[in-house]
Amino acid sequence: MTHVITRSCCNDAACVEVCPVDCIRPRPGDPGFGSAETLYIDPSTCIDCGACADVCPVGAIVTDRGLDDEGRTGLALAQSWFAQAPVAPGPDRRPVRSAPRTRGGLRVAVVGTGPSGFYAVQELLERTAGDVQVSLLDRLPVPGGLVRYGVAPDHGATKGFGDGMERLLRRPQVRLHLNVEVGAHVSAAELLDGHDAVVHAVGAAGERRLGIPGEDLPGSHPARDLVAWYNGHPDLDGRDFALDTERAVVIGNGNVALDVARILVSDPADLATTDLALPALQTLRRSRIREVHVVGRRDPARAAFSTPELLGLDRVRGVQVLVPGGEAVSGPTTGFADGARSGIVAGFAGRVPDPARRRIVLRFGRAPREILGGDAVRAVRFGTPDGGVEDVECGLVLRAVGYRGTPVAGLPFDHARAAVPHEAGRVLTGPGGRVVPGHYVTGWIKRGPSGVIGTNRTCAGETVGSLLADHAAGRLTEPAPSAADDLDRLLRARRPERVGLEGWRAIDRAERLGGRPAGAPRRKIVTIDGLIAAAGAGAGDG
Ligand code: NAP
Repeated sequence: MTHVITRSCCNDAACVEVCPVDCIRPRPGDPGFGSAETLYIDPSTCIDCGACADVCPVGAIVTDRGLDDEGRTGLALAQSWFAQAPVAPGPDRRPVRSAPRTRGGLRVAVVGTGPSGFYAVQELLERTAGDVQVSLLDRLPVPGGLVRYGVAPDHGATKGFGDGMERLLRRPQVRLHLNVEVGAHVSAAELLDGHDAVVHAVGAAGERRLGIPGEDLPGSHPARDLVAWYNGHPDLDGRDFALDTERAVVIGNGNVALDVARILVSDPADLATTDLALPALQTLRRSRIREVHVVGRRDPARAAFSTPELLGLDRVRGVQVLVPGGEAVSGPTTGFADGARSGIVAGFAGRVPDPARRRIVLRFGRAPREILGGDAVRAVRFGTPDGGVEDVECGLVLRAVGYRGTPVAGLPFDHARAAVPHEAGRVLTGPGGRVVPGHYVTGWIKRGPSGVIGTNRTCAGETVGSLLADHAAGRLTEPAPSAADDLDRLLRARRPERVGLEGWRAIDRAERLGGRPAGAPRRKIVTIDGLIAAAGAGAGDG
């Protein structure tokens, strides 16, 4: 008997720390941990105790009794992973999470309530044994960041990460200030005046550009806009996407590309029981899209999507995944994941198209040259490996070529990396420059837009380690004793629409109730006004 890690693995390695027989790989500090697609449990040494499942924040670990399709896939992946990298007997190299001694009475502001902010707060609470006061801010009236607005609605297990976030928000050391924008309602310098330190966990709000002709033709959109739209982000309030075409092309083949392709061809009846936003669901019900081409510039082994997501793509009801035979060939592979991806893609090639099903066609070795059209997109022109070009006709183009960090008000910015310059999380005046005392970064704004949810745990661990070391060494300036009240007073004056914990709980209740008739976990409120109204009497308090 063994436990098995399934597709939703968030890589935060909480499981690694509690495993009594040290059978989960790779561990933080092991080669390849940072780039691992998922963690694996060694079926031959697991004692099936379930300690790992108890701490998994996304419920991705199951016992092998009665495995479903996804579980069986996870088990097969783990078996092949350990076949190529058996667990060598040797010292236990799991990290010891030592807490630097703090001087007590620490006050920290964390800006951003997505996964990176969440892990920063968690690290602060754990490593000070709760001897910290945290002001947690977000520009939106709801917490969650990319867990709420980036994770695909059909990834219900990953959305379960929100439950752990929820517990954290209710800790007495945490004071929530939602609907407050740093840079607009309070400056980074003012925040630092009221705290020993400020941790900026604001993510990467921008999009990478392709820089090709036709990029901005009507019908060509950044995939992140579609993601935000179907997730009910208030910034996309009033936007709609014309899905009155049979074929869409997604440029890029990372996990965001697979998310949007899957949502575009999924049966709306299946999406109706998720937290997908209602306006998007209504548009998807009228959609004419039958086929989505996901086009990457490299070969299958070097595609940016992860193996579990690729396998998940093939399990969407009523959808067939196809690959043109000639494009399924990869050059020599090195790592386990490269080999797994190219093997799976080869398995998709040669399938006979089933006209009764909608389809996702994975394309490889094609670099975008131009988006063609006049009043609307008509096709995408790709360069092919033989030096030729191929035009793929379509009526909708989604550019899924990655996110990009944008400058943070009050902080230096490294435009080349599109991130804040830092040393182990301490903000620097510029790349290789001096430390800006009191300011720290974590998550995508620190390391760039890569990695999965749990990658932020290691990242926050480093940043909070630096912060606590600086505090212990007396390198931080203590705020005035009245700092907490001063901040409250300032926000009351400048941002009466501030939403606190009570307001958020009122929104949460309203959304959960709204989802009930459809059997959905929640029906999101998609406008700022609607969210503030739902926060009701709670707004401004808590
Ligand atoms: P990504 O993984 O960086 O993928 C970007 C894709 O765009 C790659 O295929 C890349 O190709 C391509 N690309 C970049 N510039 C291009 C250009 N000029 N022309 C053509 N193609 C170009 O980014 P993402 O998909 O936005 O995901 C961001 C992060 O979130 C990733 O770490 C991802 O794993 C994570 N995420 C995870 C999940 C999940 O676990 N379920 C879901 C969504 C997102 P090259 O590889 O050739 O550069």
